[in-house]
Amino acid sequence: MVETVAQGALFDPAALQCQNQQAGATGGGRNSAARKAGSQMRRHRVILALFGVQILALIWATKSASIAARPGSIPAASASKGHLLYLTLSKGFKHDVIPHTTEVIKQIGEQSGAYDTTVTEDVSLFTAEGLKGYDAVMFYTTGELPLSDEQKRDFIEFIKAGHGFVGVHSATDTFYMWKDYHDLIGGYFNSHPWHQQVKIDVADASDPLVSFLAPSFEVNDELYQIDDFDPGTTHVLLRLDPSSVDLKKPGARAKWYGWPVAWTRRDGQGRVFYCSLGHERSTWDDPKFQQLMLNGIQWAMGKK
Ligand SMILES: [Zn+2]
Repeated sequence: MVETVAQGALFDPAALQCQNQQAGATGGGRNSAARKAGSQMRRHRVILALFGVQILALIWATKSASIAARPGSIPAASASKGHLLYLTLSKGFKHDVIPHTTEVIKQIGEQSGAYDTTVTEDVSLFTAEGLKGYDAVMFYTTGELPLSDEQKRDFIEFIKAGHGFVGVHSATDTFYMWKDYHDLIGGYFNSHPWHQQVKIDVADASDPLVSFLAPSFEVNDELYQIDDFDPGTTHVLLRLDPSSVDLKKPGARAKWYGWPVAWTRRDGQGRVFYCSLGHERSTWDDPKFQQLMLNGIQWAMGKK
């Protein structure tokens, strides 16, 4: 490497000028002036060679930093920090993993600088006034949550006005009796016939939220079947590769739209990101899943 740099340094205009001076001086006879010029030239070459090594070292360091910042290592976020309200209230099945998810969500927000997190099980924040100051709301919830009609209206209006909604795992196992919620999240949990290692295909490798996962990845988690799903109004990002599961297993039901796993959609000016993975602790500890959540949260906040 050093040798290459030293040769490269000879192509420096200053070095060429120095060579010409040396040639001129030598042409005038082997006098002391020529020897002095030659000595200066050698020093000049050494300095240039050292300078070249430093430049290469700098390039190498920059390249190493960009490798370290690849997906999975939580790259830096945009300048303005978002505010996330993370609701973890369970009125149906309560997932043991929820406390761990709150730590992960807080950590990736802090580590990236993208957002800070308020974790709550208290739905009293869901008013026009209480939601002020938040850029996005995230649900890891189940069942019929105790929001009044006015709170429901305020919440939907908050999203439609241009804020974000992030649903994870059992967020689709929530509010079956509230049509506006279905219109927000885009589908309902039906059942989970598979809880195993599966292959997940990236449905749109050009989408920056999931391009880093293309063409596919493996995960060991609980897999949801989704009902009442409309791919016409929803952008599917990830879907289950059906060849990685037993389609004859009791409860497995093929829908014409397959098994969507993650998607985005719009509700008014609002942005909605949902991912049905996240039952297992190991999923939350997977840097790929953490990156996916960070991407989804940032996108929902309008920052990606
Ligand atoms: Zn689950």
